[in-house]
Amino acid sequence: MAYCKFQADQIFTGHRLLDHSHILITDPKGTVIDITTAEAGDDVRRYPGILIPGQINCHCHLELSHLRNRIPEGQGLPTFIQGVMQTPMVEQEEKNRQMDLAEDEMYQNGIVGIGDISNHSYSIGSKLKSKIRWHHFLEITNPDDEKAKSRVAQFRQMEAAFAQAFSPGSAISLSPHAIYSVSPQTLSLINTHTKNKIISIHNQECADEDEWCRNGSGGFIRFYESIGRKNVPVPVSGKQSVQTWLPYFNNGQTILLVHNTFMQEEDIVFAQTYALQNGLRLVYCFCPNANLYIEKTLPQVDLFIKHQCDIVIGTDSYASNHQLSITGEMAALHKHFPQIPVTVLLQWATLNGAKALRWDRDMGSFDKGKRPGIVLLESNLSKSTRII
Ligand SMILES: [Zn+2]
Repeated sequence: MAYCKFQADQIFTGHRLLDHSHILITDPKGTVIDITTAEAGDDVRRYPGILIPGQINCHCHLELSHLRNRIPEGQGLPTFIQGVMQTPMVEQEEKNRQMDLAEDEMYQNGIVGIGDISNHSYSIGSKLKSKIRWHHFLEITNPDDEKAKSRVAQFRQMEAAFAQAFSPGSAISLSPHAIYSVSPQTLSLINTHTKNKIISIHNQECADEDEWCRNGSGGFIRFYESIGRKNVPVPVSGKQSVQTWLPYFNNGQTILLVHNTFMQEEDIVFAQTYALQNGLRLVYCFCPNANLYIEKTLPQVDLFIKHQCDIVIGTDSYASNHQLSITGEMAALHKHFPQIPVTVLLQWATLNGAKALRWDRDMGSFDKGKRPGIVLLESNLSKSTRII
């Protein structure tokens, strides 16, 4: 068999950084055979920078790709969501074109797997053509308890349509959007229908979310008024957001909590304790560029590290980002949290993501037998390019 041999300033294996004396050996399709310091003969491909396994983007909305440069920055989440809902109609053909462009950008910059939010089924065509691996989170919004059954039934039909379109065993799960847009009954039904699955929820992305849950006040009143609702239909709990929605789940799920921008230490401790007692696995997904775009603030990342949380990275969508690049998210984290070692960021971007989406049997690291993709990362985190 012909071997491919790769050498660089450094190799990040998914676990640790190795120096330039190491050579990554794969078969022509990129299946890892070995990493060696022995004489590997000639035809070794040498690169400046760091070779890393393909990156996993744990939070994206491919179907919002046409919203590039359309929503003003820094207006806060309620106004942002209003902006997403009220953008002028875009032809499906243009949406398809923008989704294909976004998919290609992610493929070229080294993303090999994506946890993608779908509120509709129109991204199926782009995803079917894609060489990236997808987990489809079919994301439900429904603030009215009385419509919970029919709304969830509608998404069960969508789940069947996705299952039919993609190969058997494809990763598809229902997911709630966020506490301010999903009624209690709907949360309970989603819990019933997602036994042992991976689900996703936007968590504590803005201060208004906690403000609503605790006191029934803040920006979501204005938001609901803007869409013709006199009252915010989801109930007030007197508690922080995560302490309000998490107790609806107890069915063995892995839950991706996305953003966590306003999560406090007491919330992290609450969530960890609840998950342990109720057989859940929690994974925290940071999308720093989207947080800066929408709220001009960042989560307290150090707190999540202190509490040994599982952390992964996402790009969110073109509605709230100027690029779809996990390297771009790593660079933002590195800029604002320089105390976090780059190897830790790399682990969040690769192996942690693969583990969160249960793809670590063959992705996320250069362990023998895996085919994780090979990506060249500039040492200053300015750019990444897919090699295989
Ligand atoms: Zn999102």
